Amino acid sequence: MTQLSDRIQALAPSATLAMSQLSGELKAQGIDVINMSVGEPDFFTPDHIKQAACQAVADNFSFYSPVPGYLSLRKAISNKLKQENGLDYAPEQIVVGNGAKHSLCNAVMALVNPGDEVIIPTPAWVSYVQMVNLAGGKNVLVPATLDQNFKITPEQLEAAITERTRLIILCSPSNPTGSIYNRDELQALAAVLARHPQVMIIADEIYEHINYVGRHESLAQFAEIADRVAIINGVSKAYAMTGYRIGFVAAPLWLAKAITKLQGQYTSGASSIAQKAAEAAYAASQDCVEQMRQAFERRRDLIVGLMKEIPGMRVNVPDGAFYLFPEVSAFFGKRTGEYVINDANDLAMYLLREAHVATVAGDAFCAPGYIRLSYATSDDNIREAVRRIAEALARLQ
Ligand code: PMP
Ligand code: GLU
Repeated sequence: MTQLSDRIQALAPSATLAMSQLSGELKAQGIDVINMSVGEPDFFTPDHIKQAACQAVADNFSFYSPVPGYLSLRKAISNKLKQENGLDYAPEQIVVGNGAKHSLCNAVMALVNPGDEVIIPTPAWVSYVQMVNLAGGKNVLVPATLDQNFKITPEQLEAAITERTRLIILCSPSNPTGSIYNRDELQALAAVLARHPQVMIIADEIYEHINYVGRHESLAQFAEIADRVAIINGVSKAYAMTGYRIGFVAAPLWLAKAITKLQGQYTSGASSIAQKAAEAAYAASQDCVEQMRQAFERRRDLIVGLMKEIPGMRVNVPDGAFYLFPEVSAFFGKRTGEYVINDANDLAMYLLREAHVATVAGDAFCAPGYIRLSYATSDDNIREAVRRIAEALARLQ
């Protein structure tokens, strides 16, 4: 008999982190693995942000911060939302958490009752479904295929909404597909949501700055739904600060207060040092963000060009984030030696063991038939990884 709760037994481990761990273990055995599994910028945190962290240590920012975060950081975020996104959020509407993942989970926990339906357009980032499960909610998956550029239509959204729908979680730019909803597409979704006032909206905008098609468009810009939108964002991706663990939610005041209450019992305020570093990230020059964005765009072009050459691989051109999500079902049913490829999990394992390239199977993103590659790595790694993948796939019969 296990002593673990039903809740924890029903929870799946994070496949992105699991694959990255496995690749780390192989590396430790001396195998030259190229890790394209976990999604994090390969850049170091910019110097001025690191200096702010050091300064915070020197200045004795060693005490508990207020639960929702330092006012100075929340002011900096409020300014960012105004200047970059044209959105009005007072510092009281912003709650800083231990990374966007934590902020997202806080919002889900604050909104979802057992049995509530939560709409998740798929492919979707690994953690959404599991967070909804933790809250006892019911996932309603709305699939979007590569042929629709991985974006759901207003008709699909309308058809998925019932009177039990409590929440939708929309990610744009998307992990794992890199797709971006343009303003018109968002407006059309907002028009549907406007007709269903019982539905709250989480807009996961963590990849806001990794955009190759222009200005970021937020779902919160549409007045008809703005008072039901919780924006999730943070410093992890834009400023190469994944380990600092700072994210935030910007939400209606009642929700920000509820999330603060939850955080006050569960984690307290986020790391004081990391908060000061995040403040510098938002308040200082944004040149570093643009430099990294340009590097990601160049790598996007490189990997798309190379992957398109592989027979059987179906690839679209992602508009943002740093992921490629090719359709790989052409390889299912093939074999070589001891390997039989029945699904994307088999393929990801085969590529790890034989090509020494770590990817993540689409199943983890509720999209069997695909694999995800993170191209937040050097041009040389991208070239070598695709060469190895092509060679390993050519051996399958
Ligand atoms: N949302 C998405 C879509 C992500 O890809 C990530 C990255 N892990 C997060 C949220 C969480 O970001 P953080 O590292 O700030 O917790
Ligand atoms: N968001 C990243 C990814 O999808 C980090 C891993 C995680 O938090 O699951 O790979």
